[in-house]
Amino acid sequence: MLKKKIIKLLVGTNNKGKLREIRSLLPKNLEIYSTSDFKIKSPIENGKTFEENSLIKARYFSKKSKMTCLSDDSGLQIDILGGDPGIHSARWGGKKGDFIKAINRVFKELDKKNKNWKTEKITARFVCALTLYGPNQKKINSIGKIEGHISPFVKGKNGFGYDPIFIPKGKKITFGEMKPMQKYKIDHRFKAFKKIKKFF
Ligand code: IMP
Repeated sequence: MLKKKIIKLLVGTNNKGKLREIRSLLPKNLEIYSTSDFKIKSPIENGKTFEENSLIKARYFSKKSKMTCLSDDSGLQIDILGGDPGIHSARWGGKKGDFIKAINRVFKELDKKNKNWKTEKITARFVCALTLYGPNQKKINSIGKIEGHISPFVKGKNGFGYDPIFIPKGKKITFGEMKPMQKYKIDHRFKAFKKIKKFF
């Protein structure tokens, strides 16, 4: 376990959408650094689960920066696609991380599975694994999930990634249509963060 409260932290992600959201979750008096402050590229994510990939990133960024690092590995699981894109969520956007391309791939795969998918409820969830890893400190891992379904149409300009096609359970609008703070208070990242909040 971490002995003291963390006062200085590297957020281990090169994804600007995630960085924005993680910053908003962290206490305002924390000294926050991002990977761009150290010009560190992302490591190869060859884990088989969100937890494994999250640890790979936290360990890598912490070792490079010699700082305590909080990393996030997350993605969208669509039940009818056997959990895809899952840990490959970022990769469906290609090398440039093109989210339109990733969403089009989701629609294409759904079309292949079921031509009538647009008239049905396609259940899905976002999953987020957070890892805290620091020099000489035991790692801390946490998982958060939010259930929902896939919108048949791309809706909303807020957020990033698959936000414009994900409708959380109990809501009628996509994450992409929500105001950022509305999304940040209910999503997978928020739920994972809640469990490790006490360390800050
Ligand atoms: P990675 O964790 O860096 O491998 O990338 C996760 C990918 O999952 C992102 O690039 C997004 O495409 C997707 N993703 C994760 N969290 C969210 C979210 O909150 N909204 C939309 N897409 C997300």
